[in-house]
Amino acid sequence: MVQSTTASVRRFGFISFLFSALLMLPLLASAAADPGFEKWKQEFRKQALAEGITAETFDRAFKGIDSPDQWVLDKASFQPEFKAPAWQYFDNRITKFAVKRGREKKQELQPWLEKIEKKFGVNPNILLAIWSMESSFGAILDNQNVMRSVVRSLATLAYADPKRKKFGTNQLLAALKILQSGDIDESHLTGSWAGAMGHTQFIPTSYQAYAVDMDGDGKRDIWNSVPDALATAASLLSKNGWRSGETWGYEVTIPERKLPAGKLTIAEWEKLGVKRVRGQAFPRPDDVAELKVPAGRGGPAFLVLKNFFVIKRYNNSDRYALAVGILADQIGGAEPLTRDWKRPFTKLDHDEVVELQTKLKEKGFYDGEVDGKAGGETRKAILKFEESAGVELQGFPSKEVLELLRKK
Ligand code: CA
Repeated sequence: MVQSTTASVRRFGFISFLFSALLMLPLLASAAADPGFEKWKQEFRKQALAEGITAETFDRAFKGIDSPDQWVLDKASFQPEFKAPAWQYFDNRITKFAVKRGREKKQELQPWLEKIEKKFGVNPNILLAIWSMESSFGAILDNQNVMRSVVRSLATLAYADPKRKKFGTNQLLAALKILQSGDIDESHLTGSWAGAMGHTQFIPTSYQAYAVDMDGDGKRDIWNSVPDALATAASLLSKNGWRSGETWGYEVTIPERKLPAGKLTIAEWEKLGVKRVRGQAFPRPDDVAELKVPAGRGGPAFLVLKNFFVIKRYNNSDRYALAVGILADQIGGAEPLTRDWKRPFTKLDHDEVVELQTKLKEKGFYDGEVDGKAGGETRKAILKFEESAGVELQGFPSKEVLELLRKK
């Protein structure tokens, strides 16, 4: 599941952010038993038992969990100041690194990918792109800072987050049923702050609907078995109407005049002057398609098909589905987009972002991951650096900032 990132922190906003972070430290340090939580737990235990969870499963699942997880509540209450611009979203997801790693994984897993495609009819490149988007090919699962006990995270939301009480309760019941099924044990039932689990980040109810034991060991193990995780993603797409052998969409050029919103056939779009960018024919003129221009005129444009909307069943975001589609095409050997995202600075490649993060870290401006992805934390660190250097505050991961860092 994608997470939003803060796009900008203003000068004074940042100072007050630092102070509030300092004030929160004593709260974060306290992890003593919470009597309110204990009372909630006893009530919830009754509900769980009424829904078929055994006392043994419940007590095993909650062993040692006697307080909510403040980190989960901090994540849950985080509101980005505004939506990240398109360039930031796509730059961080469609990277040379992701394409290269995707191709390596394709080689490595070829027999499994063939079996999964035969069973579910989903193109392997799409599954590899989802795997990249969801967990960076499993890399985030090793990060203990962001992968927590699913039972504790969901209990925290059910107990202490009024907006997510229902979500937390329903997902927690599903998580207990997963434990009871024996697919995974409580020490390995880990996930994101919102309970998204394993290589392909399924929440417990989605796991129940779609999980697959692809490798045949008797467990639907999306945490440790890549074939299980990718087959589970394929199962979700297949059950939501994936059209085998068809693409998600095409990069197109659009005429100057105003175009209609909504769905038309490809043949109708062609009459309006929409063309594929390299002049190829559209294979099926009767397909119904919608036009997407995520960064406005001047940026890339796409005609998207049924499979685009199926990808949105994974994560209901146009940007998400586009990134999966574009990344999948490139893993499969397609050329990069003909039009770049509009961005107000000179772009860095993956290695340069790593260098930027490393230098920011060395100088004490950054304590996040050095992962080549310039998200909200990296941009905050750039702002801190720009402030100390006495230059204009922009927070962009740009060539200009990297060169300034190299000099200092
Ligand atoms: Ca398995």
